[in-house]
Amino acid sequence: MGGENMIELHNIKKSYDNETTVIEDINLEIKKGEFVTLLGPSGCGKTTILRMIAGFEIPTEGEILLGGKDISELPPNKRPINTVFQKYALFPHLNVYDNVAFGLKLKKLPKKQQAQKVSKALEMVDLEGFEKRSIDTLSGGQQQRIAIARAIVNEPKVLLLDEPLSALDYKMRKEMQMELKNMHKKLGITFIFVTHDQEEALTMSDKVVVMANGAIQQVGTPEEIYNEPSNVFVADFIGESNIFKGVMSGKFKARFCKAEFTCVDDYAKGTVIDAVIRPEDFVLTKPEEGMITGEILSSDFKGTFYEVSVLCGKNQIAVHSLRTGEAGTRVGLSIEPDNIHIIPYDLSINHYEGSVCREQEGSTLAVSFAGISWNIEPSALFEGAVMSEGVVYDAQGLPIDMSDVSFEASFAPEHADLSDDADEGVVQGNIVSFIYIDDHYSYTVRGLDEEDYIVDDEDLWNQNDFVSIIIPQDKVKYKLL
Ligand code: ADP
Repeated sequence: MGGENMIELHNIKKSYDNETTVIEDINLEIKKGEFVTLLGPSGCGKTTILRMIAGFEIPTEGEILLGGKDISELPPNKRPINTVFQKYALFPHLNVYDNVAFGLKLKKLPKKQQAQKVSKALEMVDLEGFEKRSIDTLSGGQQQRIAIARAIVNEPKVLLLDEPLSALDYKMRKEMQMELKNMHKKLGITFIFVTHDQEEALTMSDKVVVMANGAIQQVGTPEEIYNEPSNVFVADFIGESNIFKGVMSGKFKARFCKAEFTCVDDYAKGTVIDAVIRPEDFVLTKPEEGMITGEILSSDFKGTFYEVSVLCGKNQIAVHSLRTGEAGTRVGLSIEPDNIHIIPYDLSINHYEGSVCREQEGSTLAVSFAGISWNIEPSALFEGAVMSEGVVYDAQGLPIDMSDVSFEASFAPEHADLSDDADEGVVQGNIVSFIYIDDHYSYTVRGLDEEDYIVDDEDLWNQNDFVSIIIPQDKVKYKLL
C-alpha cells in the first residue's frame, strides 16, 4: 500500500522506573487512513505503545512522528489524536449531548457549532436524536458508540482504540466490529486498534502488527500473517498450528515426523527448520494412502468440522476434518506441498557474547556470558591450552593474552531444563511465552538479566512462572570472536 505515513515510531524504547524494559526497540510506520491493529497476548506492550502515541506516556528513547513532525514533546491535548478506551469513561451524570460536547466546551467553541458537530458525530455512530438521553439508559453497545462519538467529534487525524469491544457480548461485539469498519471507511482517518483477539484483528484490519514480549514479531496484511507467519510464535498465536522440528533434505524436500515431504519453500539442504501445518490442511486418508500414519486419539464435533487428534509416533497432531473415525482407528494423513510452511530455525537462539573474567586463579578459566558465570577448561576456548597460576598457555606452551578475548557461547534448547528450585539452575527468570512443538513445549524465559533463553521441556509450566534453567556445562559450545 502506498501513501504517506501518518505515524512513525523510530527506535522506541520504554522502561518504567529505569528498570524493567517494557518496549524493546520498536520501529513502525502507519499510513494515512490505514486501519492498523496491534495484536498480542496480554502484557506484551500494546497499550503502552498506544499511550505513547496519545502522549500519556513518554518514550524512554526514540521519537514519534506525526505527519513527518516529531510530537514526542507535545502534551496529549495538543496532539490531533483521540482515544476510545476499553472502559468507556463516559460521565454518568451528564446526558449524551454533554458527554459528546465535553471537549468542544473545553475549547470554548460557539454553541451553534458545538450543536452541529455533536449531531454530525451522533449521526456517524447511528444515534441521531439521542442527545437528551442519560447514559444509564443506554445499552453497552450504545455507550460504546457514544464513546466513539465523543472521540471523533474533535475531528482527530488518528483514532486510537484500546480493546474497545472487549466488554461487549459476542453478538454485539461482531456487530460493532462491522460498524467500526464502516465508520473507518466513512471517516477516512487513521485507526490504531488494540486487541488480544486474533480473529478480531484478522477480520478488521488493513495491517496487523503482531507483538510479543515488548517487540514486534511481524507486520503484514491479515492474509500474510496467517499464511506466511515469519516465526513459530506468530504461527502458534495466529490460528491453530501444528509445528514440527525438521531439516531440509533436498530441493523442495523437508524431513519431519519421520517422513519426507515435498514443499514449495527452497532452503539449502541440511537447514534446520520448523514446519508449520494448519489443522484444516491435513487430509485424513486410509492408512495405506497417507504420507504418514497414526492412530486417532479423540474426535470432537465442532459444528462445521471434527477436531481430530491423531498420534503419529510421538507427535500429537491436530486435524480439522469433515470425516472422522473412532478413537483407536489407524489413519493416514496427507498434505498438499503448498500447505506446508517452512520457517528456517533461528540460528541466533541461545547465542550469547561472553568474556573472560579479569581475576583468574587455579587451572580453570572463569568466564561469563548472558546471566551465567562459571569456570571452564581453557581447552574449551583454545584447543590444547592449559592453565597454570592464572595464566593460559597455548598448545605450544606460549602464554595467551586474555585481556580482550571475547567469545560466543551457545547451547541447544533441548539440552537445557527448567526447575522450580532457584538454586538448581545457573540462571533464573520468568516464563514469558511458550509454544508446543513436536512432543514438547518450547519456553521463552526472560532472565533477571533481561536476556531471553529458549528451553525445551516436556512438562507444562505457566506463563510468568519463576524458574531456574539447568544448563549442563558440557553441552555449551564456545567460539572465539
Ligand atoms: P498489553 O496492553 O499488551 O496488555 P501493557 O502495555 O499494558 O500490555 O503492559 C506491558 C507491560 O508493562 C506489562 O508487563 C505491565 O505490567 C507493564 N506496565 C504497564 N504500565 C506500567 C507502569 N505504569 N509501571 C510499571 N510497569 C507497567
